[in-house]
Amino acid sequence: MCIVLSGMNLNELEDLAAEMKASKFRAKQIHNWIYSKSVDSIDEMTNLAKDFREELKSRAVITKTKIKTKQVSSDGTIKYLIEYPDGECVETVLMRFDNRANLTACVSSQVGCAVNCSFCATGKRGFIRNLTYKEIIEQVLTIQRDTGLKVTNIVFMGQGEPLLNLENVLKALNLFNTDFQIGARRITISTSGIIPKIKELAKTELQSTLAISLHASNHKLRAELMPIENKYNIDELKKALVEYIEKTGRRITIEYIMIKGFNDTIECAKELAIYLKDIKCNINLIPYNSVDDTKFKKSSNNDIMKFKYILEHSGKKVTVRLERGADIDAACGQLRGRII
Ligand code: SAH
Ligand code: SF4
Repeated sequence: MCIVLSGMNLNELEDLAAEMKASKFRAKQIHNWIYSKSVDSIDEMTNLAKDFREELKSRAVITKTKIKTKQVSSDGTIKYLIEYPDGECVETVLMRFDNRANLTACVSSQVGCAVNCSFCATGKRGFIRNLTYKEIIEQVLTIQRDTGLKVTNIVFMGQGEPLLNLENVLKALNLFNTDFQIGARRITISTSGIIPKIKELAKTELQSTLAISLHASNHKLRAELMPIENKYNIDELKKALVEYIEKTGRRITIEYIMIKGFNDTIECAKELAIYLKDIKCNINLIPYNSVDDTKFKKSSNNDIMKFKYILEHSGKKVTVRLERGADIDAACGQLRGRII
């Protein structure tokens, strides 16, 4: 059976080296080629002796994951459709921001999503399956192999609800820390608000940023957007968030999609400011990105600025999310895992 090197940690690589009667140092070199230099082929591991490389090739491959399509946006954002060996595909997006030396990978945690928010293209597909932790980290390795660059930040904001696949997400997070050397504070997990899992996360004293997709200032509006509101409502969510912040000491991010005439009024901004009063958070306003078959429209810039001002006046730090890759359907909520 052919071994896949991507996703193996240093201990596993040391066991492999031992089987091949090689030193632990060889394992360290292979590890570096996979996670830091992210080469495409074993032949490129030039500090390994040729005989050793040949033997490694007879036992192992770097990956079995393929890039099915790749699109580059006019703003430099790259969207990959990645295919796993079973034929299932997910999207992964690489974003660069001109004014920062960061490379951010937006990774998927599931194929499809069961939460079915009315504004999101991923939800329209329904739930297909969870990704394993190795499949999650493969997305970052694929980007690194393709671009030759090292990813510095990760956001779990691709397809899927990360807290409904928490075990694999936490394992991937651990590998991002140890094997990729990406600090926990450079990783953000975004959730639609799965309360029991937020409680579980609080116990792990997670150092990554938790982002909550709130999107509305009261139960009625939120239920219209997110069916999950009928299971885990906005008041219970608030209690869980206060408890989470107390336990972890971390500031959270509140995500709020701005939809014209629906949740972008001055009344909504005031109601939101009251809801967030006791929650230590930054607010990220996301201009709605259009998705086929929905009736929603993006708020005007003027309304977004008014909304922002009211929240800032309440003492919060508010940013408006830069729209990335909308011309290639790579922006928030536009990922659905389709080929064209
Ligand atoms: N399932 C998780 C993470 C993936 S979505 C979650 O929902 O939080 C990442 C962010 O994009 C979420 O805040 C989500 O609500 C938002 N989003 C989804 N569809 C969108 C759309 N059409 N326009 C703008 N943002 C959208
Ligand atoms: Fe799932 Fe997030 Fe899309 Fe809602 S917004 S359907 S939780 S991926």
